[in-house]
Amino acid sequence: MAIATINPTTGETVKTFEELTAAQIETKLQLAAGTFQTLRHTAFADRARSMTRAAEILETEKNAFGRLMTTEMGKPLKAAISEAEKCAWVCRYYAENAERHLADEVVKTNAQRSYIKFQPLGPVLAVMPWNFPFWQVFRFAAPALMAGNVGLLKHASNVPQCALAIEDTFRRAGFPEGAFQTLLIGSDKVEHILKDARVVAATLTGSEPAGASVATIAGKEIKKTVLELGGSDPFIVMPSANLKEAVTTAVKARTINNGQSCIAAKRFIVASEVYDEFERGFVDQMKALIVGDPFEEKTDIGPLATPQIVKDLDEQVQKAVASGARVLTGGKRLDRSGNFYEPTVLVDVDPATEVSCEEIFGPVAMLFRVKNIDEAIRLANATPFGLGSAAWTNDAKEQQQFIDELQAGSVFINGMVASDPRLPFGGVKHSGYGRELAEFGIREFVNIKTVWIGESKASTEDTE
Ligand code: NAP
Repeated sequence: MAIATINPTTGETVKTFEELTAAQIETKLQLAAGTFQTLRHTAFADRARSMTRAAEILETEKNAFGRLMTTEMGKPLKAAISEAEKCAWVCRYYAENAERHLADEVVKTNAQRSYIKFQPLGPVLAVMPWNFPFWQVFRFAAPALMAGNVGLLKHASNVPQCALAIEDTFRRAGFPEGAFQTLLIGSDKVEHILKDARVVAATLTGSEPAGASVATIAGKEIKKTVLELGGSDPFIVMPSANLKEAVTTAVKARTINNGQSCIAAKRFIVASEVYDEFERGFVDQMKALIVGDPFEEKTDIGPLATPQIVKDLDEQVQKAVASGARVLTGGKRLDRSGNFYEPTVLVDVDPATEVSCEEIFGPVAMLFRVKNIDEAIRLANATPFGLGSAAWTNDAKEQQQFIDELQAGSVFINGMVASDPRLPFGGVKHSGYGRELAEFGIREFVNIKTVWIGESKASTEDTE
């Protein structure tokens, strides 16, 4: 894929970029390795000062950053501006908490003194997706830099200007040259970089095939990886739920970020008693969404990021229909230029078909009717993925059953799955492994070093 900004609203190629040459990549790897030798010895307070400055830059320039995101990948401008604000939040969170998360931990053993020390590892490669072009990067970079690692970013090829703006933000914030570098490269160059001895670990947020490829290469090199991959999150509604709130949240959870979020609710599993009312409300609200220019204030859903995504999404819808699904609203691309797809609701999707449990990356919802909680949980878990999950019920026993039995990295009761710097984020099954955010996130790329100090009395020979 060429490295370029192609406006998804108009299809216009705004700017193209040359890939780095082999010599330029080498220079950047050398710089990363060299900078690590200084950054690792800096005090937390120094790194926190720069990270706080990065937060200030994000807040001050959030409108410009927002416009960049919307131009490159099409999310509504107001959401893009909120994304920049959220990045400032994660920078502040780690500026304030990294030292505490990585403080020595004393453990009482037979030693005179034993404790756990957390030390940075070195240059970490981050392969990132376009869907939250700032947030995905900052949630890796803020803890990584605060831990004393350095970052090398291979961003998605359709968001190069976001990638360069992030590098520039860390530079202006006061981090040393080379602490965070953007590599404008295609995915075919990832293997070479991962195999380089100076790169010690990798994190990838993206699709299953990309994750499997990076994990295979890293595995051969015995390098640590964190994978944040796709999802087909269930959103379950039981009879005791506040239905009005559940419907409104369900629509938001499906269509956030133009429907292109890993933790978007994708399968709506509703108890028979309340199903009809849920379906009516859900379809009405999906129909009412305003699809259009993401720069306009009134727009709820902008274009999908690339023409390929529209094509893939439409194929999934047509596949579902061919195997018996009914379209209650939407079901096709919009008759206009740009990558627009109608907000779509599918019912009667056969749970035995592949499409019922694969990831649908766009504003297309599937509704399922179930008899009871056991059937709801069975259906919810009938997917290769296990990222997030949401269950709506006011029955305490049901809440506990969902918490215990849903196979996912998170369970949200009476709410919508969302990331928060204070809480760990990640998945199980094919949604990946490892965690980002909170204390767990910053401890992924550190050497958890055991220190054991015994007492060594001077020997008799020495003293005589
Ligand atoms: P993608 O095609 O996997 O791309 C993600 C990144 O990986 C891009 O930088 C891409 O570079 C690179 N890449 C692609 N194939 C690669 C390979 N074989 N080896 C190394 N790098 C490779 O994913 P996407 O379609 O952009 O993003 C959507 C996916 O990301 C969805 O599945 C979504 O659920 C997932 N996602 C997960 C999370 C999470 O936290 N779990 C968050 C957001 C998104 P190029 O652009 O140059 O191809």
